[in-house]
Order: sequence, then C-alpha cells, then structure tokens
Amino acid sequence: MVERARCHWGWGFADKFPDEGGLRALGGSLGMALGFEAQEPRSPRPIGEAQLPASTFGARARPPFFFDAGPEARIRHTYGRGFRDLARGFVGDFSAAPDAVAFPLTEDDVEALFAYAERERLVLVPFGGGTSVVGGVECPRPASREGVVAVDLRHFDRVLEVDPVSLSARIQGGAFGPAIEAALGREGLTLRHFPQSFEFSTLGGWIATRAGGHFATLYTHIDDLVESVRMVTPAGPFETRRLPASGAGPDPNGLVKGSEGTLGLITEAWMKVRRRPRKRAQTSVRFKRFEDGVAAVRRIVQAPLYPANCRLIDATEALLNGVDFQGNAVLLLAFESDDVPLEGAMQTAVELARECGGEPIAATRFQDGVSGGDESSAAWRRSFFEAPYVQSRLLAVGIMVDTFETACTWRGFEALHAVLTADVTDALKRVCGAGRLTCRFTHAYPDGPAPYYTFFAPFRRGSELSQWAEVKAAASEAISRNGATITHHHAVGRVHRPWYERERPPLMEAALRAVKRTFDPAGLLNPGVLFDP
Ligand SMILES: Cc1cc2nc3c(=O)[nH]c(=O)nc-3n(C[C@H](O)[C@H](O)[C@H](O)COP(=O)(O)OP(=O)(O)OC[C@H]3O[C@@H](n4cnc5c(N)ncnc54)[C@H](O)[C@@H]3O)c2cc1C
Repeated sequence: MVERARCHWGWGFADKFPDEGGLRALGGSLGMALGFEAQEPRSPRPIGEAQLPASTFGARARPPFFFDAGPEARIRHTYGRGFRDLARGFVGDFSAAPDAVAFPLTEDDVEALFAYAERERLVLVPFGGGTSVVGGVECPRPASREGVVAVDLRHFDRVLEVDPVSLSARIQGGAFGPAIEAALGREGLTLRHFPQSFEFSTLGGWIATRAGGHFATLYTHIDDLVESVRMVTPAGPFETRRLPASGAGPDPNGLVKGSEGTLGLITEAWMKVRRRPRKRAQTSVRFKRFEDGVAAVRRIVQAPLYPANCRLIDATEALLNGVDFQGNAVLLLAFESDDVPLEGAMQTAVELARECGGEPIAATRFQDGVSGGDESSAAWRRSFFEAPYVQSRLLAVGIMVDTFETACTWRGFEALHAVLTADVTDALKRVCGAGRLTCRFTHAYPDGPAPYYTFFAPFRRGSELSQWAEVKAAASEAISRNGATITHHHAVGRVHRPWYERERPPLMEAALRAVKRTFDPAGLLNPGVLFDP
C-alpha cells in the first residue's frame, strides 16, 4: 500500500493543500468574514528547494544502522507545527534541521543510541508526531556539542496487550491516534483521547506534553488515563507499577508526564481505556451574551455534572465555524456513556443553561448505538479537524492564524478575559494593522475554565515571524500578569519557557535539575525545554 504523503512544511496530508484558485477563494471569503484583505496567493517552496545546513554526519564514523542523515528525513524532523514552524517551512527555511534522524527499532537500540550520543557528544531530541506548537522538537545545536539527532519513535507503534478485566491496554509510545483507536476498537474499547492533532500525534508525545483531549470535564488530560508508564533513560529504564491509584509518596508517573523529552524516551504505557460509548446525548444552546454562557458552564460543572463536551464558543467563532450566523455565543453540550442513562444529566444541564439566559437551538438528540449528533455539533466537529489545514492555507495568502490557551479560576476569568482581549487586540492593530481574536472554552472544572483563543491577522511578508512574536508576547504577558497558566495543554517547550519560569515555584527548577541529573547525567536529551540547560 502506498502511504499518503505528508506535507513537509504544513499540516497533515500534502494532497489537501489547494491550488491557486482554491487559495484565492479561501482568502476572499475568510478575509471578508474577518474584515481585512487576503494577499495574492504564493506557493510553498518545494521540498527539493529547501535550505538546510550541511549535516555534521557527513564526516562521522559509523553511526548506528537506524540513522538517516539524508535531507528529506532531516527536513521532516526540523519543526513542529506552530505558526512560526509553518512560516519558516513555507519559505523553505530549514536552517534549524537536525544533523540526522534516528529510527530505533527496539529498546536495545535506544540504549545503544544513548551510548553513541555520549561518546560522539550529540544531543538527542525525542520525536513523536512532530505536532508540537511550542518549539518542543526544534533544538538548536549547543556550542559544546557536535550534532543534534531527532529520535523518531515510529517503530514503537503497536497496542501490545489488552486487559479487558481491568479495562487497560499496554500501548507503545510511538503509536499514532488512529492506530490506537483502530486496535482498541477491535476489542470494543477506546482510549477516547482526541486532541485536535489526534491524527498526527502519538501516545508518547501526549504523555510527554500532558496533552488535553476530548473530555471537557473529569478526564481532561492524558494524565488521567495513564495507569503506568515505561521510559528508557540514559541511566536505565524507569517503569512504574500498574495501579489504579496510589498514595505512596509523590507520584512516579508525575515525573514522566510533562517531561517533554528531557528525561528519557517513553516507550510504552498502560493506559486506562473504556468501552466504546453507545449512548450519546447532544445539544447546543445559544446565548446573546458570551458572559451568560460563561455563567452557564460554571453552573453546569459546579452542579456537578460531567459533560463529555461543554464547549462554549463566542459569536465570532460560531460564525467562522458555521455554527451560528446571528451573533450568538453557542454552548455545545454532550454526555456519553456505555450504559448509564443520560436523560437526567442533559435535562439538568439544559435547565441550568436556560436559567442563565440560554436558548436551546434544537431539541436534544439522544442516540443509542449510533454515531452522529445535532447539526451545530456536526458543523463544529467538521471545522474542528479542518481548522489546522485552514491555518496552513491562510499562510499562503498572507493571513496569520495562531492559538493560545490557559486556565484560571472562575473568579479570575472575567478580568483575565478583559485584559487578554484588550492587549491582544491592541497588539494585532499595532503590529499588523488589523486582526480578530476569538475565544472558546475547551475544558471546564468546578473551580475554573480553560479558555482557548485564536487570532487572525494580515501579516507583512518577510516580517511574519517578528509580528507573530510581538502578538504572542502580548498574550503571554497578559496571561502571566493575571495569575493564569502559560499553558493548559500545549506544553512549555522553548516558546513558553520564559513565562513558565515565572509561573513555577522557585524551588521547582532546582528539583527539576536534580531529576535531570539523575535520569540524564550527561545532558543528552532535549536541552532547552522546561529550563535553561
Ligand atoms: C493543529 C494542532 C492541534 C493541536 N491540538 C492539540 C490538542 O487538542 N490538545 C493538545 O494537548 N495539544 C494539541 N496540539 C499540540 C500537540 O499536538 C501536542 O503537544 C501533542 O501531545 C504532541 O504529540 P506529538 O506526538 O506530535 O509529539 P512531538 O511534537 O513529536 O513532541 C512533543 C514533545 O514531546 C517529546 N516527546 C515526543 N515523543 C516522546 C516520547 N515517546 N518520549 C519522550 N518524549 C517525547 C518531544 O521531545 C517534544 O518535547 C496541537 C497541535 C497542532 C499543530
């Protein structure tokens, strides 16, 4: 079977990038909705014309057999998929390319790789799907090292074992979302972790970045689904015991979750899975005012009810996603279960939303054993998985799109939202001349929401990186100053590190460094994320 080609610079499959006519049409319609003009379409630079430095592996003696120092492998492992990655890839700038890519087949290969890297003075960058949006896989070569090697875990791609009694599954770290769901689906099970990057990201990447997935409440992060984990470190394997929960000291899984490739390679994990939901209840409720929707989400999660989806989208986002055209904010609500009746929970949620001024758009759809949903939810889902493609396409017509996300207390949300909206809108005007900012809640907790923002702006070709950096800094400063977190689920990487350094308690850095020295005494792994090496 021929593998469908992935785009070397942008999101997803290469064949989804439109021709000039398609780009012009997209720029025209979206530009109109956003209130500024798209530019003449430009084409991305083909992979054969990409600019990258010579590899230090040209002269190196006998690398392991699973190394590839060819240009294509290096190009495809240079960046993640944040705006600045796309912008550089689009113009063929792969100056940050690693010197080689390693594709280990076994844990023995990983151990051999550590020994080789130490001997040859290399750094190693664990690489899952390469969908990081925070510079997690882009590692400039430290002056003291001879080369950078991306370590691609694509051969660790299987669901190895299922325990149907405990409802857990042993899954390898390099397995991609669709492969995991396909294998579990054959047993009637599901991990049900669907980040927007689901198709192109891996279990190891999710655990290493503490990714946020499908569930709006309760099981919001991959953290909540990890039973035990195995990470191969330069100091030896680190494997935790399979336990549903434990009160024995600090959580050893906690050292692995969020380690962002700095401590070892996550080769496998036992994950908590569930039976595929057969019952679903879905509805959507519109609100004339966004703040009434905010109040409704708070009432619902503090009831407490635990909707699987509780996504409040503001009016601009509802418009751009084809969910509402009358200037309303919309709350997409869903409950799901294998066999627990959902009618009561949904009725209570809708009642609470009504009390806050909400108006159900249509009657709730209850489904048993079938997939699908109400029209607003379906429109939302379609545009949710299509949005990353749109981001890449808009780059070709001079429109910058990026997202940032956070979490805060309910008490702090109103002030944070006001400051963020003012500061980012101001930065967009000042730096780009125009721009739009939208907001939605991706996750909600009894004590606060996780708001997620998207900005759109025209950029000056050639200045897009500095323009992006100014807008991003305005957003990050506002988040940091208002006591919110620099990331609810996108991770720290290199991009968020300055603000993460302010957020974490001062002793946390010393503790992190001590753990790093224990797991990776020679400092081989991913220097530059989480703390200054
Ligand atoms: C369009 C788009 C949508 C996204 N949507 C979401 C979302 O809904 N929720 C969310 O949480 N994030 C989202 N992200 C961010 C990204 O997908 C997540 O951070 C994801 O968890 C990264 O997984 P990956 O396999 O691509 O890891 P990579 O990008 O390859 O790596 C990310 C980090 O993890 C480390 N790493 C990777 N694999 C391993 C391993 N096996 N062992 C040790 N370290 C490892 C890397 O060194 C790096 O520091 C999105 C990104 C994009 C571009």
